[in-house]
Amino acid sequence: MVTVAGSPAVSPFARLGQRDYRRTPDHVRFWSKVRKTRGCWLWQGGLSKYGYGKFQLTLPHDPAHLKPKQKHVAAHRYAFKLKTGRWPRGYLLHECDTPGCVRICADHVHEGGQRRNVRDGLRRGRSRRCTTPTIVRRIRRECPRGKGVVRRMREAAARYGLSPTAVCWIVYRVTWRWVK
Ligand SMILES: [Zn+2]
Repeated sequence: MVTVAGSPAVSPFARLGQRDYRRTPDHVRFWSKVRKTRGCWLWQGGLSKYGYGKFQLTLPHDPAHLKPKQKHVAAHRYAFKLKTGRWPRGYLLHECDTPGCVRICADHVHEGGQRRNVRDGLRRGRSRRCTTPTIVRRIRRECPRGKGVVRRMREAAARYGLSPTAVCWIVYRVTWRWVK
């Protein structure tokens, strides 16, 4: 959990009943859980165990259900949807290395995208961006093989801005075999 000293932890909706809360539009609920700093915009709601914000999205009303259906989405992905009007294609990169950040801009959370990836790759040297022995060790520690490894690798890929394949190769020691 990302905590910031002196941040108001109480949401403006804390005193509303569940029904009013449900009736509040998603984007209003969303922004009530974001604390904007001069740099990162920090998610104050629930976090996944990897530090990404979690947001309960209300799904379009289905007459078969009395209550509105809700679904967990990553907060930064919903922030992207709010800003651009569409869901991101593929993973979003956290340029600021703060998983709980939901600020959509080039310096914080962005889509990456083919052109940018290619340009960054040329500028920094593809392998330097992706992998250092430290990152390799961290990925292997965070992705123990066995049940759920695919999900863990996918999450690690998003976290480190690598392709899922690159992470898979690291975990199964196709690449970086010499790193203990
Ligand atoms: Zn940020």
